[in-house]
Amino acid sequence: PFPIKDILITPHLISEHLPERNPDVHKISAGVVGVIAGSPSMLGAGILASLGAYGAGAGMVVWPLPFSAASLVKIHLPEVVTPLVESTQAQHYYTPSVAEFLGKSFVERKCRSLIIGPGLGVSPAMSFFVEKIVQASSHIGGVIDADALNCIAGERQLWKGKLSGWIITPHHGEAARLLGSSPKEVAENRFEAVKQLADYFQCIAVLKGPATLIADPSGNIFVNPTGGPELATAGSGDVLSGVIAGILAQTGKHLESAICGVFLHGLAGDMLARNKKEITAKEIAYQIPAAKKVVRDG
Ligand code: AMP
Ligand code: MG
Repeated sequence: PFPIKDILITPHLISEHLPERNPDVHKISAGVVGVIAGSPSMLGAGILASLGAYGAGAGMVVWPLPFSAASLVKIHLPEVVTPLVESTQAQHYYTPSVAEFLGKSFVERKCRSLIIGPGLGVSPAMSFFVEKIVQASSHIGGVIDADALNCIAGERQLWKGKLSGWIITPHHGEAARLLGSSPKEVAENRFEAVKQLADYFQCIAVLKGPATLIADPSGNIFVNPTGGPELATAGSGDVLSGVIAGILAQTGKHLESAICGVFLHGLAGDMLARNKKEITAKEIAYQIPAAKKVVRDG
């Protein structure tokens, strides 16, 4: 654990918390990440989160999907394992009735962290599903992002103190919804906002944006120096949620995984931006191993 308050994240600080593989590792012991993401209009979000998890060194990504979606995903990402889910809705891949089954299958497949949220879409049915899947898998824990955060924000009182074991990764808009305030208020009081999020939900909170902040429920705040405007590209946040969950699956340490993930994601952006300022989210995911090497080699 890091002892100091309001600390700037450095390569020195994170280097000992980066996951390393033992010679006798196999793909399951390397860390399995479970994914709950995507919808017919936002399938790519889950692909990018999965790429982020593999970039961080996860041994396997398990992403339950309906057959039609799984077939599409395989074209772009044959590395992902896609257990089949029955889907009865046109708008979403997941219904509340499958939440318990999914929670159990993540345990059976030895998932050590989850990503819940990118591209799920928002509706009353999805809010109910999110409530059930978070409950059914809270002993695994992981990253809650994007539309899952928007679902939670709709019933924030219900979730007070209920997200221990989870890392939330809101941008300013999502943070404002979670806090019942406005994006402007969040932007003007970022340290206070990230502290409030961690305290209210009793989780690790990552407030994204230039100088991303990470807070734990005890009030420690970490400031990230890496990453610049090149990261403002669609899917960038989905990759981040995957990177954090990918590290968590390997180390089991929530705060440290959030800090390492945010730093590496930004460093990957910095490295890419030396050659060109216009990048896409996929490239960030592919750059994570090189960013990790830079930190490791000092
Ligand atoms: P999202 O809005 O969920 O796609 O997440 C965007 C990601 O890119 C987060 O990790 C942000 O911290 C990062 N990002 C976006 N814009 C900037 C910026 N101008 N400077 C640094 N990081 C940024
Ligand atoms: Mg996002």
